[in-house]
Parts: sequence; C-alpha cells; structure tokens
Amino acid sequence: MPKIHNFGAGPAKMPEEVYDIIRDELTNFKGSGISLMETSHRTPAYMKFNTAVQETVRRLLNVPSNYKILFLAGGGQGQFAAVPLNLMSRTGTADYVVTGSWSAMAAKEAKKFGKVNLVLPATDKYTGIPDQSTWNLDPNASYVHICGNETIHGVEFDFIPDTKGVPLVADMSSNFMSKKLDVSKFGVIYGGAQKNIGTSGVALVIVREDLLNQALPICPAILDWTANAKADSILNTPPMFAIYVMGQCLEWIERKGGLDKMAELSQKKSSLVYGMIEKSNGFYYAPVAKDARSKMNVPFRVGSANGDEALEKEFLKGAESLGLIQLKGHRSVGGIRASIYNAVTIEEVEFLVKYMKEFYEKHAK
Ligand code: PLP
Repeated sequence: MPKIHNFGAGPAKMPEEVYDIIRDELTNFKGSGISLMETSHRTPAYMKFNTAVQETVRRLLNVPSNYKILFLAGGGQGQFAAVPLNLMSRTGTADYVVTGSWSAMAAKEAKKFGKVNLVLPATDKYTGIPDQSTWNLDPNASYVHICGNETIHGVEFDFIPDTKGVPLVADMSSNFMSKKLDVSKFGVIYGGAQKNIGTSGVALVIVREDLLNQALPICPAILDWTANAKADSILNTPPMFAIYVMGQCLEWIERKGGLDKMAELSQKKSSLVYGMIEKSNGFYYAPVAKDARSKMNVPFRVGSANGDEALEKEFLKGAESLGLIQLKGHRSVGGIRASIYNAVTIEEVEFLVKYMKEFYEKHAK
C-alpha cells in the first residue's frame, strides 16, 4: 500500500505529532493513571486542562478579555441553531450572507426562530462574494451571519465585512486557526473542530460578553452561551475527548510558529494547486473568482469547465493508486476538491501537484 496523503474535507488529516501525544496519554491522562475517557469533567485535572485550552485559544487569536471562550457539544450545526437562539431576541430578525451550502443551511435553521433577511440575491451557483456595496443589509438586524470559508464550494472571505455596528457572526468551521483575525471586529466566531483543529463533536465558540444574557426563552440549556459561560463549559458532560484533541492541535499550531506560520503555509500550499490549474490552459478549471478562492478547500473540474466525468473518475482512480485520497468533490458539486488544512504538509501538496501535472501531460489535447 502506498503512503497515504489525506486531502479529505473533514473530518480531516491531523498532525502526526498530535497522534504521538494522544497515544502516550490515552490511558494515563496527565499522570492520573486513568484515561481521560474515564475521568470526571469536574476533577481538578480536567478543569486545569479546560482552562489551559481556553488560554491557548486566547493566545493564538489574541482574543480580547471581553470575549468568552466556550467548548460546546453539537459541532458546527449545533451552532446554526445556537446563534439565532442566543441572539435573535433583540429584534426578531437576522441578516444571512449566503455564499455556499453551509451558510444556506445556517439561514434555513435560523428561520425556525425568527425572520431571516437574505443579504445576497438567491443563487445555487456559489462562485464568489459580491461586492459589499451591493449587499442588502438590514440596519434592524440582530446580527449578520457569514460563513468564513465555504467548505463545499471553496469560497472564502479574505476581508471582514463592515456591518455598520450590527454584531458580525462567523462560522469558521473550515478555516479556524488558519490565519490571524481581528477578533474585536466580530460579535461571535464559532466552528466545529474536525477540519483544522481536531476531531468532531465539539464546537469552539468565541462570544463577546455584551451578547450574552439575551437567549430566547426556548433556548435549550446546552445551546445557551450564557449558561455555558457561567458553567465554564462544564454545564453538562462536555465532549471531553474532542476538547482534549483540539487542545493538542492548538498547542501543535503554537509550536509550529502560530497563526502567521499557518497563514504563510496555507498561502504557499493553495498557490501551488491554483498555480497548476492556471497553467493547464483550461484542462483544469477552478470555478471560484480569484479574490474569493479558498486557501483551505480547492474545488476544480477536469477536462472542461463543466467537468468530463469519465476523466475525473480516472483522475481520482490514478490519485488513489498513489495514496492521494479523499479528493472527490462534494456530491452536490461534483469534480475534485483538494482540502489542504493545517496538518497537510507542503510536501504532500507538491506530490499532488506533480500528479496533476503528469495527468495533464497525459490527457490534455
Ligand atoms: N460549517 C461549515 C463551514 C462546515 O464545513 C461544516 C461541516 O463540514 C459545518 C458547518 C457543520 O459542522 P458539523 O458537522 O460539526 O455540524
């Protein structure tokens, strides 16, 4: 079997060094003689760890002191419900900037709890982010929701929108901790961990304190940011193992040089793939506008702009035979998608690009 290079969109590749630590500590959490999996979340050892992970998040993103850091069960989608449940009460309406399938799903969930204003014209072709001057923002909205990186369509914000004082909420499930951010420009940032920072089951939520204490009365306690902030993320038994893995991934990022380093590497890795696409005279085709191209997920077609399905199948088969796996595009868009999160190395991306070049030389007319 060839060495495996996992380009999956998530759950995604994790750093090998993190596995080494997990393996060592699996049955002996912090020298306690038992596994974290059989440790009470109310023990001093777990609480110490809980605080340490929060501090790592705060250091990496330079999170200001008026923001709470929460670890909540239910992943990214849990927060699709939590956002309106915690924030919609102020005016009963919210703005959603839909730039792909995930923000569309977030908007659909929010409609259960209040009025949703779609900031952009409806479309099913997500290939960019319309200029902000054309956005239909409602000054009365309780918040404006964006998806920082659309994992399926490969559309990523490279700017922080100006929401004219309305709290900005961002789903960063697939680009959390891939670059520095001015957290003070956001009301809330959230994301599931299983792409850039660990494994599934936990959402990392960073919420400005003045946005607490306004949850709708129907908000379940486990989605209530205020209740969870008061309980320091141990209101119920949290997804401790997922939080542990996230903590290890965050420390790995710090050891590697922090978010500036992650951003530099993402820039290099994504440029290698987009560069190959650009050089292929249309043999490979990336549908997303250049200014909105994701540095995390690179979707592309093979053979033509609409994709030659037989050639794409052959591309995937050849890739798998070399150990380049999970490159199939999402079923809703087809084609190929290379996900190049923090743990995917430059060498792995170079290997993928070498294969793309060879495939192009063999098949381009
Ligand atoms: N938001 C984005 C951008 C995602 O990519 C995903 C999952 O792939 C989600 C939300 C949903 O996350 P979860 O599966 O943890 O609920």
